[in-house]
Amino acid sequence: MNYQNILENIYNQVQPFLNEGKQADYIPALAKVNPEQIGVCLINMKGEQYSMGNAETRFSIQSISKVFALAMALNLEGSNLWKRMGKEPSGTSFNSLVQLEIEKGIPRNPFINAGAIVIADILLSHLANPEEEFIDFVRSIAQSETVNYNFSVARSERTCGYLNAAIANLLKYYNNIENDIEHVLQFYCLMCSIEMNCKELSQAFLCFADHTKEFNYKGVRLSSSQVKRINAIMQTCGFYDESGEFSYRVGLPGKSGVGGGIAAIYPQRYAVTAWSPRLNSKGNSVVGMKILELLTTETKESIF
Ligand code: GLN
Repeated sequence: MNYQNILENIYNQVQPFLNEGKQADYIPALAKVNPEQIGVCLINMKGEQYSMGNAETRFSIQSISKVFALAMALNLEGSNLWKRMGKEPSGTSFNSLVQLEIEKGIPRNPFINAGAIVIADILLSHLANPEEEFIDFVRSIAQSETVNYNFSVARSERTCGYLNAAIANLLKYYNNIENDIEHVLQFYCLMCSIEMNCKELSQAFLCFADHTKEFNYKGVRLSSSQVKRINAIMQTCGFYDESGEFSYRVGLPGKSGVGGGIAAIYPQRYAVTAWSPRLNSKGNSVVGMKILELLTTETKESIF
């Protein structure tokens, strides 16, 4: 498969969509990013890399970090994790409060904000140095020692994150948060603030792309079944209330973030990341989704 040619082709085809959508501005620091950027990088199981555009420009990974946090929490809690959250698609926006109240403080899944805030709480309860251990794990799967948090983005989000604070309070009311709410929110925002580029994200997601290989990075050890199931949750819950649409148009497990990144996996074949900051109304990158839709359509490769 000539992925380089295919990516070049796709890169040209998506240019007309570059102005569609709107970049996230509810986190003030994200509104400052130049929205006219597109990056894409695919890395296959042999480690061969194919990329186009701004593939080496780092951006805020935001909710993509929820996959890494889930991996760490699963390692620590195993199936006990599912006592505190579900694994069903939410059908509601990533920061919705309504469902959480109706379902008495049990988030639908680990990839909406409520679920990821519970995961942040779990990591704080188990780890001696959560901030350090989390970034060390991400650096190790991304094979990049310079990946880091952006502390000013984290502060910017924490200062204006009234909805996430409401979610955390509701969770605490229902006894689904053990630690101090402020500490949990700060750690949650810090995880979201990590900056990576398309190459680093694809490298990191490649670790989840083959459940037959050993997963053991910085003490985070997952069984092959746990790795496979993280993919299953990405497939069903990775795009909030657009998970069905993503599955329909792209057909790969993946995870998006409001920084405009989307990382996806073709199990046992490749990991791919597409990035462009402008988002659709569901908070997913317009151009990112288009790139991945064209990739799976033009290659005729599908897991279905
Ligand atoms: N940090 C963002 C928030 O909590 C993450 C949301 C996202 O990327 N969908 O709102």
